[in-house]
Amino acid sequence: MADTVMIRAKRPAMGCEFELVLRGESRDYLLEAAEEAFAEVVRLEEQMSVFIPDSEISRMNAAASNVPVRIDPRLFDLLLRAAQLSHETDGAFDITAGALSQLWNSASDAPPTNEEIAAVLSRTGMSLIDLDEREYTVWYREPGVRIDLGALGKGHAVRQVADLLVELGIVNGLISSGNSSVYAIGSPMDDDAWTLGIRNPVDRSGRITAVRLNDQALSTSGSHERFVEIGGVRYSHIIDPRNGRPASGLLAASAITADPAEGDALSTAFFIMGIEKTITYCDGHPGVGAVLVTEGSSGPEVISVGVVHQTEVEDS
Ligand code: AMP
Ligand code: MG
Repeated sequence: MADTVMIRAKRPAMGCEFELVLRGESRDYLLEAAEEAFAEVVRLEEQMSVFIPDSEISRMNAAASNVPVRIDPRLFDLLLRAAQLSHETDGAFDITAGALSQLWNSASDAPPTNEEIAAVLSRTGMSLIDLDEREYTVWYREPGVRIDLGALGKGHAVRQVADLLVELGIVNGLISSGNSSVYAIGSPMDDDAWTLGIRNPVDRSGRITAVRLNDQALSTSGSHERFVEIGGVRYSHIIDPRNGRPASGLLAASAITADPAEGDALSTAFFIMGIEKTITYCDGHPGVGAVLVTEGSSGPEVISVGVVHQTEVEDS
């Protein structure tokens, strides 16, 4: 076999650091592939971000309660998939949680009142979104609905980059969006799977466990790095769209899936659903695994659900 080289490349995007580890025979070819991959991430961020005023999602949020808005067919397919994942998670994952996120993010002295939450809940829910599959148009049935792909976008970008790199002939690599979604293409040269650590949500410098992946994705959701502080109390940035309140219960939730976009949505959903409902979900979806971290009596405890190839924590 020809000698192989490995490159590592990083780029800030989507509010995190995208990182690629690619192996192949030509360093120049791998560097070019990495550039193409980063260009794709930038294109997707410009399309999906609610923080960019003229992104396709921002323009849709501004107009779709007045008129049906035609969008890029690939973005439309992502919204269809989001609707399906919302259904499969009994509404725990819901891209219309955007208005609730805005409500909680804008509170500073006191949490929103029950009345305020109820008012925003009336403009939350996938049943308010009309997706016309023939026209690729999106229409909101109520004013004030807001789609936010924050729980899905990084996984989707990782997925698009993985597809691109595989098309470019890359057979060994890792794609990571700030560790929130990681996809392993194939395996490292000298092993049959990549070993990926899951951070300890309490001591962020350490790892609580590690999993082995081959053509699989690992996505993690938690509240230790991103949260809202209201009146000195920390609330999760992940909101249960059924009651309009920040999720609590787990310290972190990871999903292991074939598709990183699905994994990103599911880690957010599992964080809300908790242990029992995640077990039920994985029982019904044999390709999906979960690693949940709970607050045990003597520190955080790890619970693996479904098919998870867990391994010892390594140093690197
Ligand atoms: P993640 O880090 O992937 O779990 O995504 C969390 C982000 O998704 C939040 O910061 C919100 O922007 C958005 N979000 C919050 N709650 C939900 C939910 N229940 N379903 C979908 N997106 C959500
Ligand atoms: Mg997510």
